[in-house]
Amino acid sequence: MRPLLATVDLSAIRHNHALVRARAAGQPSFAVVKANAYGHGVREVVCALEEADGFAVACLEEAGEVRGLNARARILVLQGCLSADEYPLAAQLDLDVVVQSAEQAEALLATRLRQPLRVWLKLDSGMHRLGFAAAELRRWHARLSGAAQVGELNLISHFACADLPGHPLTAQQIGAFRSLDDVPFAQRSLANSAAILALPEARLGWLRPGIMLYGASPFADGAAAALGVRPAMSLSGALIAVREVAAGDSVGYGAGWVAPRPTRIGTLSCGYADGYPRSAPPGTPLLIDGQRVPLVGRVSMDMLTVDLSAVPQARVGTPVELWGAGLPVDEVAAACGTIGYELLSQLAARVPRRHRY
Ligand SMILES: *Cc1c(COP(=O)(O)O)cnc(C)c1O
Repeated sequence: MRPLLATVDLSAIRHNHALVRARAAGQPSFAVVKANAYGHGVREVVCALEEADGFAVACLEEAGEVRGLNARARILVLQGCLSADEYPLAAQLDLDVVVQSAEQAEALLATRLRQPLRVWLKLDSGMHRLGFAAAELRRWHARLSGAAQVGELNLISHFACADLPGHPLTAQQIGAFRSLDDVPFAQRSLANSAAILALPEARLGWLRPGIMLYGASPFADGAAAALGVRPAMSLSGALIAVREVAAGDSVGYGAGWVAPRPTRIGTLSCGYADGYPRSAPPGTPLLIDGQRVPLVGRVSMDMLTVDLSAVPQARVGTPVELWGAGLPVDEVAAACGTIGYELLSQLAARVPRRHRY
């Protein structure tokens, strides 16, 4: 078997989930498990968080999968129903749905449902991606209250900049959310991971932790370990080939990287088709025997190459960590000009996951 494996530590995810509870005692949360639980395997993660109050997913297809794994928990569909025929199915699955546009609200009111839905009206508090302005949202609250299709009418909004401490938009968004305090919503929800960790004033009602459950940082500049979260995924491989190249030899496609001196090069069976970004520049760190070694050459579809100068003992079969407990995914992401979220969620289906309980 090709040596490439994502090991997922479910006890770390449970630990991180408990941390959410500790941060906001008594407040319920939707554990965000969209995108295959940020790449960690939705089936295993949902089962590991059996006690969760709820789960949040992007779309109805994901909600159906989660409902199949947990008959009891609330399941929130963050984008809501994207066509009218999804409402009956959402009711059948006993989901919580976001209503983020007039089209969605009209479609809901035009549908006959056997069982009312719990509805979360989305306030566009400043992200300007989904949702209603405050005045419009008040009108929808009035129209939807008491509608036969609506079981519980709730308020939700989402931060654009909670990961940037002190960003002025965040205070503005909290202000917009609080400006609706007089509207008698049954439940409210505002905080994502960054807000759970850093904005006590935003921990209103239901929390929506995503990235922190998986042990990565929501902050561009903050190490996850300092937040008390434990990394859940370790992506590991082993060297499948080792060679010496002479000074002036190039490595990989495009001959873009040229050895400045005689160099031992290790090849790993992991490429962009596995989800490792092709945009990773030379110097992106990998971990061998506890030492950071730099990526060299261009990432290919199925392989990548590293400079073994710092680890002369490395040979074919030597284990390599691409990210994990010893090398935070956030550090790799930063080197690639992206965020941990993207690396985790883009891990390809062809990479086997092994779950530890
Ligand atoms: C993905 C998502 C979250 C979780 O965000 P994290 O930064 O991963 O905690 C919360 N709310 C909404 C609306 C989302 O789309």
